[in-house]
Amino acid sequence: MPHPVTLIPGDGTGPEITNATRRVLEATGVQFDWDVRQAGAETLERYGTVLPDDVVESIRQTKVGLKGPITTPMGKGQRSANVTLRKKLDLYANLRPAKTYHGLRSRYDHVDLVIVRENTEDLYAGIEFQRGTPEHEEMLALIKRVNGQCLDANSAMSIKYISVAATRRIVKFAFEYARANGRRKVTAVHKANIMRLSDGLFLSTAHEVSKEYPDIQYEDRIVDNMCMQLVQKPEMYDVLVLPNLYGDIISDLSAGLIGGLGVAPGANISSQYAVFEPVHGSAPKYAGQNKVNPMAMMFSGIMMLRHIGEREAAARLEKAITHIIAEGKYVTYDLKPRPDDPTAVGTSQVADAIIERMQRG
Ligand code: NAD
Repeated sequence: MPHPVTLIPGDGTGPEITNATRRVLEATGVQFDWDVRQAGAETLERYGTVLPDDVVESIRQTKVGLKGPITTPMGKGQRSANVTLRKKLDLYANLRPAKTYHGLRSRYDHVDLVIVRENTEDLYAGIEFQRGTPEHEEMLALIKRVNGQCLDANSAMSIKYISVAATRRIVKFAFEYARANGRRKVTAVHKANIMRLSDGLFLSTAHEVSKEYPDIQYEDRIVDNMCMQLVQKPEMYDVLVLPNLYGDIISDLSAGLIGGLGVAPGANISSQYAVFEPVHGSAPKYAGQNKVNPMAMMFSGIMMLRHIGEREAAARLEKAITHIIAEGKYVTYDLKPRPDDPTAVGTSQVADAIIERMQRG
């Protein structure tokens, strides 16, 4: 039986890397029943939304999505399609492995981190107040009344919201992931020394959950110190669990440790659904140029293969990609010693080389 999967090419460079990824996935011999759904700039123009309802409905049916990046118009009315999708399907766990492969140009050799980012709340919850609106004025009055602080009316506000329930389930997810994947340690990342209530609640909840997993080491780190430690000695860390915003930032930092966004995969997971997508965005300046690296989306596809039980195909595809990386010949500009290297190949040539490698075994 073919595996039903909702395929969302996205916009910008999304369609190119999606096409390359689809080709290598099909070349594994695994059968897919792709339900291709459009979201992003094109649907915004046509239907006034970056995330049409049929996309969400399709994932509700197939339970699995493979998604290219989608541009978020900066500072305009539209909410991010990515954030909306995560909220609508309650994709509460954002799983982002960051691992060095031989041949990647990185300052480090032995990075093997897994970022577990809470995906539904924190400053991403979308609780914001625009300056000059009655709601904003009401918030200013409320803060003055309950907190005694007189805030400047010429301001805007975003609320940092963290709940026990969401923290419990993301920390449990991190520990369960650690247990299922033979990981030794979970580190909770926070800024509870300053945001004593919101991050304090995240930290105390993480601490409580950690007691349910005596077989896994547990520790915590303040987020700024975490950044420095990851740059200095990333091999000391294993699974990191973080609130939404820190998780977003630290996962890009971790991508930097392993050779860049071109090789950093991700998954958004709920109790019922899973949507796999690269960490990077739509890189619109390269759209239509057959230029960017499809490997981050291919590695996301490998995570998807494992999720649907196709472990052997996942291993074969991973082996072929790592071979191409180590060989360093058929790789895009970002994996070359210099970005203007004339021997860099394009997105589709990377897929050709990987398929050829897989066929050779
Ligand atoms: P970006 O990740 O799109 O690109 C930043 C830079 O990283 C690029 O200019 C390029 O130099 C490099 N890069 C990214 N992907 C690459 C690849 N596959 N191969 C080689 N190099 C690559 O980040 P941005 O420019 O901040 O965001 C562009 C748009 O994407 C924004 O609208 C943003 O909101 C959106 N975005 C979407 C997602 C998502 O769909 N999940 C995630 C992040 C950003």
